[in-house]
Amino acid sequence: MADYIVGIAGGIGSGKTAVSERFRVHGIDVVDADVEARRVVAAGEPALAEIATRFGAAVLQPDGTLDRAALRERVFSDVRERRWLERLTHPRINSRIAAGLLAAASPYAILVNPLMRQRDPRAHRILVVDVPESVQVQRTTDRDGVTEAQARAVLASQIDRAARLEFADDVIVNDGSLADLQAAVDRLHRRYLQCTGAQKQVDRVDR
Ligand code: ATP
Repeated sequence: MADYIVGIAGGIGSGKTAVSERFRVHGIDVVDADVEARRVVAAGEPALAEIATRFGAAVLQPDGTLDRAALRERVFSDVRERRWLERLTHPRINSRIAAGLLAAASPYAILVNPLMRQRDPRAHRILVVDVPESVQVQRTTDRDGVTEAQARAVLASQIDRAARLEFADDVIVNDGSLADLQAAVDRLHRRYLQCTGAQKQVDRVDR
């Protein structure tokens, strides 16, 4: 279990994955809530069978895997079904996150949580990846091949930028090049190593 956990928040297309990949280059273990959310509904998982029982074959691909777009469509405008889905998946996602953090062996660990709407209590420090909305929309349309309107619709459903910045301890403004982003991560990595060292000293004094 890492002694120190840094939570990463940021809106769609802000650069959370690019940031966490750079932390990985430094040997830092990363747990990504999005990745775990996909794993709990992967082929063979009990949650997928429950989803298929509730919503039928319409939410499955021909090969039996989840049709994420169809499911999203199905629960988008139906609060009751959305809650049902959240009750099914959230505890499983959270236990996978807990297991991932427990297994982390690096000096500190990263927890990427795209849905963070307030400080994630599992993290000791929160790093927000911040970008102007126009950049966010541009990078999302380039990456996903979606329309500007679709990217803006997702953006509108997320916590707004100012509210997210309110709970940040650290901020990376990702409006430059990928090299700039990596340099910013490298600086923070050095700082987090120091925080971890300080934490260990506090632990020793407490003992
Ligand atoms: P989501 O929450 O939507 O999964 P994210 O926050 O993880 O997104 P990334 O996937 O890391 O965002 O970045 C979005 C896209 O923008 C990717 O294609 C990534 O390669 C690109 N990107 C990120 N940062 C930069 C940068 N500084 N310069 C150019 N492209 C970038």
